[in-house]
Amino acid sequence: MTKMRRESLIAYGQPLCETVVDCPTPRGSEVLVRIERCGVCHSDLHLQDGYFSLGGDKKLDVSAGRTLPFTLGHEIAGMIESAGEAADGATIGRRVAVYPWIGCGVCPACLGGEENLCANPRHLGVGVDGGYATHVLVPHPRYLLDYTPLSPSFAGMLMCSGLTAYSALKRLVGRPERSPILLVGLGGVGMMGLAIARALFRTPPIVADIDAEKRKAALAAGAAEAHDPADPGTRKAIMSATGGLLSACDFVGSDKSLQFATGLLGRGGKVVVTGLLGGNFSIAAAMFGIKAMTIEGTLTGTLAEARELLDLVRTKNIAPIPTRERPLAEAQAALDELRAGRVVGRTVLSA
Ligand SMILES: [Zn+2]
Ligand SMILES: [Zn+2]
Repeated sequence: MTKMRRESLIAYGQPLCETVVDCPTPRGSEVLVRIERCGVCHSDLHLQDGYFSLGGDKKLDVSAGRTLPFTLGHEIAGMIESAGEAADGATIGRRVAVYPWIGCGVCPACLGGEENLCANPRHLGVGVDGGYATHVLVPHPRYLLDYTPLSPSFAGMLMCSGLTAYSALKRLVGRPERSPILLVGLGGVGMMGLAIARALFRTPPIVADIDAEKRKAALAAGAAEAHDPADPGTRKAIMSATGGLLSACDFVGSDKSLQFATGLLGRGGKVVVTGLLGGNFSIAAAMFGIKAMTIEGTLTGTLAEARELLDLVRTKNIAPIPTRERPLAEAQAALDELRAGRVVGRTVLSA
């Protein structure tokens, strides 16, 4: 029996720990993927904590419905190692990115093609064992996407940070481009968003982040301007240069970031929020009408969007964001650095 090695969550709020178990045998439509790379995502920190901060002392408990030890990780690319008898098209040795936002298949969201919004999800690395491991079991080959000629690190990243950014930016495509789009927060998703926005919009985006290193990286990656949202002069500078923005993406999702983004909107402006940092946001209700303002939230993206994104990245030659590879055994160290805010771009674990 082949063994699989995992960096497991054994208790909430505690460091990951190596566990070794027998590799599962795929049955029916299931496919066993030998993992080559798995990206380390900011949401893994919340899952490790067991909760999301909702502002003040309020917490959203996310520890339920998961048996420990559990394997985090949802930005997975690898090679098909074995497949059940009904896994059509799962050729052994095929290199694939794994779409992790797998639903129940029978709820209204799943039937509408939005498995990422499933009422009873089987999301890999969230509710079902994921990619901080040497192997992952995938319920059906339809979740396995070809990614040549991209690298496995980049392909894995595209399944979460890339997909999240793409799905959010898609909601701003087709809006008037009288002013540049604003991207707030330049972590892994924000940097992916910058690369994708350059392919989707005529005007290069302006960006904002409190970290000077990240602003520097964004300018090098093609941002038109990079601002410090904590600088009291920033708002005035952007408002006088643009007269108010029409499109913004908040990749942070905190009270401060959303306050900043909505405060820069002109009439008819829209902010799409994907970040999950936490905090409590409030705004005078009349502002929705007075400013004809929209705030929309998104959560990852659909399987169809994952395919669209892979095509977009290939046809527009979108380059990967800065990436640092570390061995699987350093998963906890990678999470610690991410928590400390010291990561520029993406860290990817190599199994
Ligand atoms: Zn993620
Ligand atoms: Zn469902």
